[in-house]
Amino acid sequence: MTSSAVRSEPWASGGVLERYADWLPIDASTPRVSLGEGSTPLVRARSLERATGADEVWLKLEMCNPTGSFKDRGMAVAVAKAIEQGATAVLCASTGNTSASAAAYAARCGLRAFVLVPEGRIAKGKLAQAAAHGAKILAVDGNFDDALRSAQRLTEHLPVALVNSVNPYRIDGQKTAAMEIVDELGDAPDLHCIPVGNAGNITAYWRGYREYFQAERSSKHPRMLGVQAAGAAPLVLGRPVEQPETIATAIRIGSPASWDGAVAARDESRGAIIAVGDDEILHAYRTLAGEEGVFCEPASAASVAGLLSRHGDGSLAGRRVVCTITGHGLKDPERAIESIQADVVEIGPEYEEAEAVIREGLA
Ligand SMILES: *Cc1c(COP(=O)(O)O)cnc(C)c1O
Repeated sequence: MTSSAVRSEPWASGGVLERYADWLPIDASTPRVSLGEGSTPLVRARSLERATGADEVWLKLEMCNPTGSFKDRGMAVAVAKAIEQGATAVLCASTGNTSASAAAYAARCGLRAFVLVPEGRIAKGKLAQAAAHGAKILAVDGNFDDALRSAQRLTEHLPVALVNSVNPYRIDGQKTAAMEIVDELGDAPDLHCIPVGNAGNITAYWRGYREYFQAERSSKHPRMLGVQAAGAAPLVLGRPVEQPETIATAIRIGSPASWDGAVAARDESRGAIIAVGDDEILHAYRTLAGEEGVFCEPASAASVAGLLSRHGDGSLAGRRVVCTITGHGLKDPERAIESIQADVVEIGPEYEEAEAVIREGLA
């Protein structure tokens, strides 16, 4: 497909390349690749306002992107630039969501997609997405860090575009989430909580907030609170973790590619990067689903777990907080069934049995 064909498609309107064109490294010849990513909901979370004492806690529902995670913002830009530069194939290493997103955008634009995933360590829904969109899936007998090392070498030797977040266009696409938050709230929040795996997203948000501040679109910067899982917390420990372990597979990463970006976001914003246990992640996961109606994946709940771990004592009076909810709970139904007690009653086909159960439930 030629770039002009992509550009003239009617679906090319509305995505991040259109809406944030002035803030992206693109020009008129860059195809406006889009699946309608971005413009995600920003919703209040009253239970978290009560717990933290904050005036406002907002959830940025990045799980509402077309493939169910924030990766789509960066992927739209990375794939557009790959097409502009003549690529016919894209490649990535992934804990799941990057591969789902790369596969979808590649399918839409007529590119081949190759994805390297740690075998047996990615949520079923994400694997299903990559398969459905026709990606070639390389199941690596190793962890994400091994897969990323191979991916980087492969793109040095083969005519394929690397679309991991080491690709700077990914970061530029993802920074638009921070810009949307400022556009919607009228200013930057005081605190921004975000899960950290490979650290591309915290780097991207910080870039977005900084660029908007420099352009006087906001009056302040937020403090960035990055949250890692205790078993995969290299940025907290200050050294890589050989065998990262957590139920939050999307952040099960021992050697983050954007290490320096995460440290800069933390230090320049006078924020912090902290670790939370899997038990805290699951508690936040259940609370979000049960009290806020937000069914996210465990890695996403880490941002809220971090907020509660730091400020569950009600210390945020007068503050405005945003938490990024990075990916959709439907990607990992096995985790949900395992860790959330379903309230099921088995009944016969008769009306009376159903009525009895409901009467009891209403009592
Ligand atoms: C990729 C991902 C993360 C981690 O983002 P990084 O940019 O790798 O730090 C967190 N949550 C979900 C759902 C993800 O897909």
